Parts: sequence; C-alpha cells; structure tokens
Amino acid sequence: MTAVNKVAIAGSGVAGLAAGIQLAKAGVAVDLFEAQPELSALGSGISLQGNALRAFDTLGAWDEIKAAGYPFEGLNLRAPGPDAPIVAELPDVKTGGPDYPAAMGMPRPDLARILFAHAEKAGVNATFGAKVTGLEQSGDAVEVFVNGASAGTYDLVIGADGLNSTVRDLIGIETKPEPVGMGIWRTFVSRPAEVVRSELYYGGPVYIAGYTPTGEGSMYAFLVEKAQDRVGVSDEEATRIMLEESRAYHGPWDAIRADLAAGAHANYTWFTKHVVAEPWNRGRVVIIGDAAHSCPPTIAQGAAQGLEDALVLTELLTGGEQVDQGLWDAFHARRLPRATAVVEASVQLAQWQIDGDRDADAGGLIFGIAQKMAQPA
Ligand SMILES: Cc1cc2nc3c(=O)[nH]c(=O)nc-3n(C[C@H](O)[C@H](O)[C@H](O)COP(=O)(O)OP(=O)(O)OC[C@H]3O[C@@H](n4cnc5c(N)ncnc54)[C@H](O)[C@@H]3O)c2cc1C
Repeated sequence: MTAVNKVAIAGSGVAGLAAGIQLAKAGVAVDLFEAQPELSALGSGISLQGNALRAFDTLGAWDEIKAAGYPFEGLNLRAPGPDAPIVAELPDVKTGGPDYPAAMGMPRPDLARILFAHAEKAGVNATFGAKVTGLEQSGDAVEVFVNGASAGTYDLVIGADGLNSTVRDLIGIETKPEPVGMGIWRTFVSRPAEVVRSELYYGGPVYIAGYTPTGEGSMYAFLVEKAQDRVGVSDEEATRIMLEESRAYHGPWDAIRADLAAGAHANYTWFTKHVVAEPWNRGRVVIIGDAAHSCPPTIAQGAAQGLEDALVLTELLTGGEQVDQGLWDAFHARRLPRATAVVEASVQLAQWQIDGDRDADAGGLIFGIAQKMAQPA
C-alpha cells in the first residue's frame, strides 16, 4: 500500500529521476515529463559528496556510478604562482559514512545516463520535448497540462524542474533564485596524472581556481570570478577568456591551458541562491531540488540535497497510506532545516570570498556542515 498510485514528475535532473526510480520501484505508475528534446546534462563534471553517494546506493545505482567516476579523499589547497605550491592538505568528513568515499567527480552526462537507465528499468514512463505548462487541482486529483494539452490526471505532481521552475510559478510560490555576485567558467579537459583529488587555489586574479578529477582520463576545471555580463560571448571567445584568466595559475593549470588552446569548450554560469520557505507543496503539487533551493557550489551539495529531497519524499509516500498534513509536516521537518543550512553555509563561503575576508573560519564552517550532512537525511 502506498499513499499514491499515479504520479507525474516534471524534470529529468537528478531530483526528478531519483523520485521516479523510488516510486516506480514501489509499484507507483510514474509519468516523467522533460521539457528538453533529450536527456541533457548542462555543464561538464560534477563533485558528489558522500551523502550523495549513499543516496545513489539507495537508488540501486551506486556500483555503476562508482565505476563511471573518480572517487577520492581529501582536498588540496594550492597557491597561485609559478610552482603552484600545495599549502594545505585537508582531510574530508565522510558524509556518507564509512562505506563510501568522501567524494567523487564524474562527467554529468554519465550520471544522467546511468540514472535514466535505472528509471526506465524501474518502469518510469518518460517523455521528452514535454514541458509542463499547466496544473489544475480538484479534490485529491491534479490534471497536468503538457505543451498546452491535458496529459492526464494524477494523485500527485512533483516539480523537479530546476532553478527556473514552471511548477513553482504555477502553484504561486514567488521565491526565486537571486544572483550571488559570482560567475563560473568551467571546462572539461584531460587529467594530468598528478591530479588525484580536488584542488583549489585561493588568491590571484579570480576568487577561486580549481579542478576535480572525473575519471582516469578526464577532469573538469573552473574559475570563479566576479559575476559579469557574458551574454553573447562566442565559443571561441569563451575559451580564450578562460585561458587568459587562468594565466596566474600553474602546476596542472599548464596542462589545462594546453587543452583550452587546443579548443576545449568553456561555459559560463552565474551562481544563485534561494530557499523556498515552508511549505514546498500546495495541495498535491510539491517542488524539490533546485526548484526549491539553490546555492553556490562552494561545498558541492546541490545535487546531494536534491537527491535527499527525492528520497525523503518518496520514503514518506511509499511508506504511508495517505497524502495528508502529517506527511507534509514530516517532509518539511526533515528537509527544510537541512537544505537551509546548506544554502546558508554555501552563500556565507561565497560572501567571504567576495568581501576578501581572510580571517573568516571557512574550514570550521565546512567541517560543521559536513558533520551535519553525515547524519541521515
Ligand atoms: C556552476 C554550478 C556548479 C555546480 N556544481 C555542483 C557540484 O559540483 N556538486 C553538486 O552536488 N551540485 C553542483 N551544482 C548544483 C547541481 O547542479 C544542482 O543542484 C542539481 O543539478 C539540481 O538538480 P535538479 O534535478 O533539481 O534540477 P536540474 O538538473 O536543473 O533538472 C531540471 C530539469 O527540469 C527540466 N524542466 C524545466 N522546466 C520544465 C517543465 N516546465 N516541464 C518539464 N521539464 C522541465 C529541465 O530541462 C531540466 O532537465 C552546481 C550548480 C552550478 C550552477
């Protein structure tokens, strides 16, 4: 017995796919609608902390994800300059517990492909090129409109449709992501043998330079700068800007620049922040993942929080017998404080960088939040 029999999900990111997998495994009929024409994976690589890895295990996808990525422990801090000296080797808290690596990097398209295969295997019925455009609630049913036409009636709708969530707008939640004041250049390049964990460079012309290994032969590299209007920058120009802005950094950055000079693609995004105040549902429509909260990836917890939203929500839906206020209260009690703590810590770390606050206890803040994440969601 589950609290729902038929659920619609908007969005095929990590949050939507995780929710779909768990519901379909429990025998719930799941229709997943994705606005894009195909499974997309914006950006290059992603860092996944232990609590995200633990969530993948719950989904049944951990073995494949582990094989497709680059697990590692610890974080190195380096300084700008010709020799790029390592100035600190920081241990990681194993936020997923002792059974999982502290972190791993992986190419985003591989993560999307693996989760989507699990969703299909579990029985999720996914449609691409299908934008959720309208919702009509009456009693215990929600009619979903896709590309302007009715797609059916459901017991529950999950809006996992990302930062600019349409579902959030449709249910009248006005909180929206706001710019933090930072922008990030990212590129996907080959991994020099000496890069075996994430490394960050503070100081120099940008706020943070860094990279994370994503496989034996690959890694992603990034530069975090003061947010600028980069609209209309061509692909060639983007690669050139990233190459120029990285010149103060050496060590593995010399190899990154060689890949950029050979044409590695660079993309640019602003960091945002928001947390929707309780409740995340209106009747039988609920938002999760980036639709409900976003933050700068200063502690790389965005995907982990979306996964946890999905797992907690589906645990309550498949373990209970009805969708009632008790279910929503339990959901919010388990998700709001945790997601809010992540957003606040991530934004604080970004703000200290923007303010140039050298006395801030960044290590203490990161350690404290990691301890929190090590607790079950
Ligand atoms: C620069 C940057 C770096 C990051 N790095 C990390 C990191 O290293 N580690 C980490 O954990 N997190 C990181 N994050 C955060 C992480 O990427 C997100 O938190 C996570 O991908 C959000 O997943 P989601 O499923 O909620 O949304 P998304 O992945 O955005 O998926 C939403 C989906 O919904 C679809 N959609 C939109 N509207 C509709 C509609 N109306 N109908 C149907 N479908 C719709 C979209 O096409 C999209 O496919 C980073 C974020 C940024 C910006």
